[in-house]
This record gives sequence, C-alpha cells and structure tokens, in this order.
Amino acid sequence: MTLFEKIVARQVPANIVAEGQDWLAFHDISPQAPVHVLIVPKKPIPRIGEASPEDGHVLAALMLAVQEVVKKLDVFQSGFRVVINNGGDGGETVPHLHVHVLGGRPLEWPPG
Ligand code: AMP
Repeated sequence: MTLFEKIVARQVPANIVAEGQDWLAFHDISPQAPVHVLIVPKKPIPRIGEASPEDGHVLAALMLAVQEVVKKLDVFQSGFRVVINNGGDGGETVPHLHVHVLGGRPLEWPPG
C-alpha cells in the first residue's frame, strides 16, 4: 500500500480537512504555505500521467474538491494555487496521485 492509501485507510494518522466519496483531503505534513493541503483519490492512481479515461470521474472529483477545501480554509477570496507533481523532474515523491492546494501567502511564479 502507498503512504496515502494507508492514510485513506486510517492506518497512518493525518490531519483531515474534508472527504468525499472518491477523495480525501488532509494537511501536508511539511507545509510550504500557511495553507497546504493534499487531495488524494481513494483509488491508488500512481500519477496524473498514468491516469486512464476510466479515472475521469475521479479526476473531476479531485478538481471540484479544491473549492470545498479553499472555502473551508478561507483562501477562496485571497487566492490559491493547485499543483500536481509528476515524476522526477516534476518533484513527485509519493507515487499516489495527489493535488497540492497552496494558499495563505503570495506565491511566486515561476516555481523553482
Ligand atoms: P510530492 O513531492 O508532490 O510527491 O508531494 C508529496 C507530499 O506529501 C509532500 O509535500 C510531503 O510533505 C507530503 N507528505 C509526506 N508524508 C506525509 C504524511 N504522512 N502526511 C501528510 N503529508 C505527507
């Protein structure tokens, strides 16, 4: 099982923000901004580059979950960033698809 599958299964503790039928949102353990949440599919899709057309409804659910998270954590109005890292150069470290939601401070562009 991946680390995030274990969090979904409540085998590893996490600070959970919200949950849907197909996803779980929890605070990143090493936050890079005042708000830094990960939204993960309950189904263990390894990374966005390996999602299949059958995963379309799960991908949509992850994107729509962003609204719920940013409203709950009060960065809907101030702004936020949504990031998915894929592979080595992308900075992926956990092989279970996850959407980073960052906010609560001005974020620089381009990212490093
Ligand atoms: P990435 O580098 O895109 O694969 O992102 C993985 C993220 O998972 C990093 O931001 C880590 O800080 C975060 N992370 C690793 N372990 C945990 C954990 N046990 N609970 C919450 N977040 C974690």
